[in-house]
Amino acid sequence: MNTPPFDFATPNHPLAPLTLYQVGGPAAWALTPRTLDEARAAYQWMRRQSAPQLVLGGGSNVLIADGGFPGIVLITTGLQGAEDLGGGRSRVEAGVDLGWMVRDVMLPNNYAGVGGLTGIPGSVGGAIYMNAGTNKGTICQLMESVEVASPSGVQTVAMDPSLYGYRGQTFCPPGSLILQGHFRFEPAGEDQRAIYERYIERRAQTQPKGPSCGSVFKNPEGDHAGRLIEACGLKGTRRGGAVISPKHANFILNENGASSADILWLMDLCKRRVREQFGVALREEVSIIPPRRAERVEEN
Ligand SMILES: Cc1cc2nc3c(=O)[nH]c(=O)nc-3n(C[C@H](O)[C@H](O)[C@H](O)COP(=O)(O)OP(=O)(O)OC[C@H]3O[C@@H](n4cnc5c(N)ncnc54)[C@H](O)[C@@H]3O)c2cc1C
Repeated sequence: MNTPPFDFATPNHPLAPLTLYQVGGPAAWALTPRTLDEARAAYQWMRRQSAPQLVLGGGSNVLIADGGFPGIVLITTGLQGAEDLGGGRSRVEAGVDLGWMVRDVMLPNNYAGVGGLTGIPGSVGGAIYMNAGTNKGTICQLMESVEVASPSGVQTVAMDPSLYGYRGQTFCPPGSLILQGHFRFEPAGEDQRAIYERYIERRAQTQPKGPSCGSVFKNPEGDHAGRLIEACGLKGTRRGGAVISPKHANFILNENGASSADILWLMDLCKRRVREQFGVALREEVSIIPPRRAERVEEN
């Protein structure tokens, strides 16, 4: 692999501390640009390399393999610019903490949409990539446009409801990089701070504490992954240091020094049991890094 020509490149870079799961090995190279120009240059250079490539935001929805990532990881958390453009419009760079945007941009202005984003960890770029949110709304609904770097260049894409859906979008295919978003917030009719406090409290009551990626699986159409896993009697099942949360069956926690393999083993168990019992194929919401070539569903 070529040595990256940047002063923000580091070899053998630990990834576990950059993820909420706190598991996984290092990246062969990490690029941590501090400005949009550095990020554009880093992305262009990265795309010319043949090594595997990954964009990492706040690390709240990834599971890194114990062997690490044998390629280049572009980490967005140095992209911290945010600007009030007036009239409810804001420019926010990919690495900005989503919680900061909710607390320091949306709440003080009583902008609508706080309910959908309250309590979701990670970066704004990662949230846009995942179209993060809840049944109260998602981040892409609040956006006017997004700047995306892809192998064909850097483009500003006008946001449109046809471009996003449940935990996904089509304007930033895998391998592309969200650099920044432009938001157009609307004033809310109701007090958003009360909504914020209500949802923080609800998460504290319903979600387990400890290192996790939040919901491991997407909800299948018309059902809840957690309900199906619980109905299979899997709550509390352990493997090594990992456990299917007794509080919320769609959370697998790194409770006690779990390995990535422990967590994957429990994920495979959930998928296999739910398929056997209900004929439903669970799909991961968490990004498994590097992606697995074939489904492993053995239970040994
Ligand atoms: C306790 C807990 C609760 C959660 N609750 C919710 C919830 O209610 N709703 C919800 O939707 N999610 C939830 N999540 C999941 C997660 O927080 C969101 O998906 C979050 O938006 C991911 O952002 P991130 O920056 O951490 O992304 P990462 O984990 O860093 O990356 C996730 C994916 O996005 C890609 N990516 C990240 N940044 C970029 C970028 N700039 N450009 C291109 N691709 C990028 C990565 O390659 C990866 O595929 C929860 C997670 C936890 C731990």
